[in-house]
Order: sequence, then C-alpha cells, then structure tokens
Amino acid sequence: MSSQEISNDEKLVQSIQKKYHEMLEEGVDPYEWAYAWRSEINRGGFRAVDFLMREIVDTGKCVGCAACVTICPTDVFDYKDEHPIDTRNDACVFCELCADVCPVLRPLDKDLQTLLGFKQPVKDEGFGPYNYAVIARAKDKEFLEAGQDGGVTSALLVHALENGSINGAVLGDVLPENPQVGVQKLATTAQEIRSCSGSRYTYSPNTMALTEAMRQDIKPLAVVGVPCQIDGVRQQQFSSIRLEVAKWYQQNVVLTIGLFCSESFTHEHISYIAKELDVEPQDIVNVNVKGKVIVELRDGREIIMKLKEFHPFARPACLYCLDYSAEHADIGVGGIGLSKWTFVAIRTEAGHKFWQAAVDADLFEIMPEETEPKAKELLIRLCNIKRNKPLPALMPTYQERVELGNTNPKSFYKDYKKPTDGGEQGK
Ligand SMILES: Cc1cc2nc3c(=O)[nH]c(=O)nc-3n(C[C@H](O)[C@H](O)[C@H](O)COP(=O)(O)OP(=O)(O)OC[C@H]3O[C@@H](n4cnc5c(N)ncnc54)[C@H](O)[C@@H]3O)c2cc1C
Ligand code: SF4
Ligand code: SF4
Repeated sequence: MSSQEISNDEKLVQSIQKKYHEMLEEGVDPYEWAYAWRSEINRGGFRAVDFLMREIVDTGKCVGCAACVTICPTDVFDYKDEHPIDTRNDACVFCELCADVCPVLRPLDKDLQTLLGFKQPVKDEGFGPYNYAVIARAKDKEFLEAGQDGGVTSALLVHALENGSINGAVLGDVLPENPQVGVQKLATTAQEIRSCSGSRYTYSPNTMALTEAMRQDIKPLAVVGVPCQIDGVRQQQFSSIRLEVAKWYQQNVVLTIGLFCSESFTHEHISYIAKELDVEPQDIVNVNVKGKVIVELRDGREIIMKLKEFHPFARPACLYCLDYSAEHADIGVGGIGLSKWTFVAIRTEAGHKFWQAAVDADLFEIMPEETEPKAKELLIRLCNIKRNKPLPALMPTYQERVELGNTNPKSFYKDYKKPTDGGEQGK
C-alpha cells in the first residue's frame, strides 16, 4: 500500500502507536499509558488488534498468557506456539479489549489493588500483598505423591469442587505422548483435577481453557496459572471496558491460584534431558527444580542434574515478566526449596474463604511460615531478582536482544540496577 492509500483505520492505529511511544519516551507515569488507547473508546475505538500485534507479538515481547485471545468477543485470534495469531483480523469490532488486558503493554491498573479485595490487614514483605502464609501439605497420600510439592493446589480444588463452591477449574494437563508438554484443561471432575497434578516446566497455555468454560457456562470457576496468566485474568476481570466477556470473567472466576515462577523452559529442555539420560521423552515422568533439577523416570530412577545446565533453556519471552510470586492471585503457591511441602500465601478475602474451608475439612498438615525462615528469604530474593528490570515496554525487543547476542532472560538484566525513585519504572 502506498502512503496515499493508507486507510483511515490504519492511520488511527499509527496515531495511537505514536501517542503510546511519546508517552514512553517522555517518561509519563506508566499507569497513564493506557490512555493512549482508552481515549479513543468514546470516539468509536480503533483496530486494537493491529496495535497489539505490532507492539507485543511482532517484537517478541508476548509472554503467551492468552488474555487477548480469550477476551476477544469476535474470536479474532488463534493461538499457536505460545502466541496469538490474528487469523480473523477483519472481524475486529474496535472494542480495544485485547490491548486493554495485555499485561505486557503496561503495568496493571493501580485501582486493581482495591478491586481484588486483599484481606486486611495487608502485609507486604517483598512478595506481594498478603494477609498470612503457611507451609502445608495434603494429608491424603495420593495428592501428596502426585503433587509437585505438597499437593495443596489439587487437594484444595477437589474440595472446592466437591462442596460446590466451584464447578470447574482451568488447569494444565499434559500431552499423552509427552508428559512434560503442558496443554490447557477445563477440569470438571475430581479425577480430572487429580490427573493434572504436578508441574510441567514448559509453558502450559492453561488460560486457553477459559473460552471453553465460557462457552459451556461452567461456573463458578477456579483458575490455576503461572503469574503472567493470573495477571491476564485479572486484567480481563477488571478491565474498564465493560463488555459481556469481561463481565463473565469478573462474575464467574471466583478463585485464582498463582504458581511462583522464575521462568519456564523451552521444549528443547525435554530433548536435552532425554538425550543426556538416554531415555525417550515419554519416560520422563516429572521434573522438579529445587536449586538443582530432579528428574523422575518411568523406571523409578531419580536423577539429579545441575540447574546451570538448564540456563540455555530459559524461555526468552519470560524476560518481559516481573512477577515471581503471582502477586495478584487470591492464593500464591510455590515450593521454594521445600521438599513435598507447599508455601501458601493467602492474599485476598476470596483466597481466605477457600483456604479456610479446606482447613476446616482437615485436608492439610500445616506449619507456621516461621518454621522455615529460609523459604521466605529465598522467596523475597527471587522476587527481587525478577522485579529488578525496566517495564517490558521499555525493554529491547527480542530481535534487538538477538543483535546484542543475549536472549537469555536469566542473564540479560543481571548487572542492572533499577532506579529507586520510581521514575520511569513506576512499579
Ligand atoms: C513453569 C513453572 C515454574 C515454577 N517455578 C517455581 C519456582 O521458581 N519456585 C517455586 O517455589 N515454585 C515454582 N513453581 C510452582 C511449583 O512447581 C508448584 O506448582 C507449586 O508449589 C504447587 O505445588 P502443589 O503440590 O501444591 O501443586 P499440585 O497439586 O501438584 O498442582 C499443580 C497445579 O499446577 C498446574 N500446572 C502444572 N504445570 C503447569 C504449567 N506449566 N503452567 C501452569 N500451570 C501448571 C496443574 O494444572 C496443577 O493444577 C513453578 C511452576 C511452574 C508450572
Ligand atoms: S502477552 Fe498475553 S495479552 Fe499480550 S499479546 Fe501476548 S498473549 Fe496477548
Ligand atoms: S516467568 Fe513470567 S512469563 Fe514466564 S512463564 Fe513464568 S509467569 Fe509466565
């Protein structure tokens, strides 16, 4: 298309992009960035899908949370290889929701802190707002054995399903032919929740199952996800663009459980393990990271590998993520160095309600968080490492990182010192 032939729709997209970049360059408060597109809503909106694809997907900054895909009221996107594809671009109705829910375009809205209903009094010791934390494990041996850590997540969900406080859960399952490749699952039975237990370190697009839940009207619904996925769901629930899809999420997602996450691994880590241990990928039953990598094989062997060997498999897109502890989840969970215990941070009133019901049903062995002070120290340290970066919009693109010769999310900002005045970072 020559410059004379640029359509009015395209001109508008370009003007929003310009406005957004001016804000970034002029050091405007990051919480104001969303006005670049929100100011267009009353004038009929614009083709936000083009804006999102250019700013986030084409630049390699997309973390794959699928929030844009599952919020789009006209099904513009497909999702492949951990990214949205705007297959039906012409179906865009200019609602702007896809851009508004993307957690990479801007920090989450400030008023989200109020909207989430954090349980009072709120503490913040460096791993996000929370009310209390415990270290717990499931009393039921099956949950404990199948669980990645203490089996708390699955036990809590099955209890919620059986007492009717949820009717389904958006989870991560695995491919039958490769148990380390995660796929989304809408679980509606206790057995389905149980069979999703354990962690896969590849990126599992759990939240893609939200569309199916909405289509089948499965509610109330729980969502388990890594922090980028929880952030996407929160943006969907509380977007200021109040279309039916956003309302559905707000009314029906009643519990979010966020898994602590430094980064996920690329699929190559599976072939690497298989080659190193001379086994087939389907023989790798479980991978767990505890300062070292513990690989459990189908024949019962447990092999320890060095975590350093896995640094090349850190997923490049995870650079654009600053959230380690799922700061916006109702409940945050992680193993943080503990063996077969889950560190559980109760953040919101909703999280407390679900947790307390499971505690009342005597599902868990529980220790006070103070029993393992090193766990909390490690948690805070890992959060700090991940927060010590500029906001993703201000980071180089994936292509620029290739040119700089470093696409590894673990080392890119290793020597960076984040300004302490808030300034351009605004977090
Ligand atoms: C990619 C990844 C990185 C992680 N990194 C850390 C870390 O650095 N530090 C730490 O303390 N904890 C980390 N965790 C969390 C930890 O592995 C456990 O998931 C958590 O402690 C809960 O254990 P559990 O026994 O209570 O859960 P379980 O009862 O075993 O349930 C686990 C749940 O996780 C879901 N799930 C499995 N794989 C994925 C996936 N790839 N993406 C989204 N959901 C999935 C399943 O659907 C299941 O519902 C990570 C998890 C993942 C998936
Ligand atoms: S980060 Fe999430 S919302 Fe943003 S473009 Fe990627 S999948 Fe869509
Ligand atoms: S590091 Fe962030 S972007 Fe990467 S999988 Fe974990 S939560 Fe998602």
